[in-house]
Amino acid sequence: MPARTPGIFAFKDSSRLNLQSGTDTTLALRIIPRDQHNISRRNISKAALRVLYHLNESGHAAYLVGGAVRDLLLERQPKDFDVATSATPEEVKRLFRNCRLIGRRFRLAHVVFGREIIEVATFRGVGEEGCDGDRRLVDGRLVRDNIWGTIEEDAVRRDFRVNAMYYDISDFSVRDYVGGMQDLEDRVLRLIGDPATRYHEDPVRMLRAVRLAAKLDMRIDDAATEPFASLGSLLADAAPARLFDETVKMFLSGYGLESFRLLEQCGLLQFMFPATARALARGDEALRALIETGLANTDARVNADKSVTPAFLYAVLLWGEVRDVAQAAVAQGVPAGDAWEQAAARTIAEQCQRVAVPRRFTYAVEEIWALQPRFEQLQRKRVLRLMDHPRFRAAFDFLLLRAGESSTMAELGRWWTHAQQLPRDVLSAALPASTGGASQDGAGLPLPGNPPRPRRRRRRSGKSGPA
Ligand code: ATP
Ligand code: MG
Repeated sequence: MPARTPGIFAFKDSSRLNLQSGTDTTLALRIIPRDQHNISRRNISKAALRVLYHLNESGHAAYLVGGAVRDLLLERQPKDFDVATSATPEEVKRLFRNCRLIGRRFRLAHVVFGREIIEVATFRGVGEEGCDGDRRLVDGRLVRDNIWGTIEEDAVRRDFRVNAMYYDISDFSVRDYVGGMQDLEDRVLRLIGDPATRYHEDPVRMLRAVRLAAKLDMRIDDAATEPFASLGSLLADAAPARLFDETVKMFLSGYGLESFRLLEQCGLLQFMFPATARALARGDEALRALIETGLANTDARVNADKSVTPAFLYAVLLWGEVRDVAQAAVAQGVPAGDAWEQAAARTIAEQCQRVAVPRRFTYAVEEIWALQPRFEQLQRKRVLRLMDHPRFRAAFDFLLLRAGESSTMAELGRWWTHAQQLPRDVLSAALPASTGGASQDGAGLPLPGNPPRPRRRRRRSGKSGPA
């Protein structure tokens, strides 16, 4: 980075920091004094300020870092406040009673204030990614040294330039080592260093690019998206549990719809959700609408501070595949119940090879799907029992998403919406006792329009599948 203002100077040994070769070989620090940026201590959590001050007063360098600095500069509320310091984890632990050390390779300190946790990380060195740095045995204990580094080294290890700015508690300035401020102004996400190298080190950075672009409404630099086509397949080697965490952040933080669109546009959807990519590639516009509405509804719930579950998300994303596979099997004569059960198991198993969805969620996904045909059974006992089912709410929300599939599904959605608004005794009295009852078609039921006639399906061994 060329120097821009008198506040900028170049590091002596920048060449070994592996910045993008060619133009970006010089690492330059720009110090932005307090009166030239908008970060106010009022917007920093009290807990983070206490940690920063205490470290600083104890003689250590202490900075707010990463997403928090980026978000504050963008006048957004940070999700969490991370601190970077020159103090080692053991030194941090000695300074804070409410501190625990976590992590094996790279020890991090968590300073706990009630429900808030401030993550305090010692400046990391630029050793090879995936390598533990130098190791020594002392009294039989494995001791690692040389994994800690300088603030400059810590900065270039970070992923995007906008994520490598440090707020200095000692003078309230912002230290920008790699041009993050410029990128914030340009609203662009640029990787630090050579994109292909950085993705090889950690393929999840590709997903972080998409997630942060969606969240911050920023563009991803062409140089950072260009390797997606050739390196997207590296995501298959990423730890499936980490991918699950990343998808949860991506889809359940209030910008899931935008993340989904970007993921598809960038060609990464096929590596994360192969079945979804396949189903959409078949040109199913109703499915696209279902997914987009499902994600938009989830975003709205997150933004209204309502609860959301990964199960609903996966039920939505995998619906096209499970439905198509089951219907194909039914067409070949497999009984509906079996066809759906097998299709659900197969679809989920395939997905879990990519992204480790915990069992409790896959179980819920199967339940959301399995409850769908029960919305068509409008006899009194069945209706009331379904309403009491623990998964009713998610399954009902899913039913509403299916309105675009047919006029029958849209009608069913309206019927159940209205049914839930009625007092239970009124609803109960209005419902037919059995399929043979007089009001089976909804006559006598104070609901708008007639509910669709329940379809009779073949049932085997008590199992059934969605229509
Ligand atoms: P969010 O607002 O979603 O928390 P974030 O950028 O703060 O976004 P975190 O996962 O909290 O994301 O990470 C904190 C910081 O750690 C990042 O800003 C970045 O500097 C660094 N970081 C996180 N993940 C990586 C990674 N895979 N490679 C390099 N640096 C990373
Ligand atoms: Mg963060």
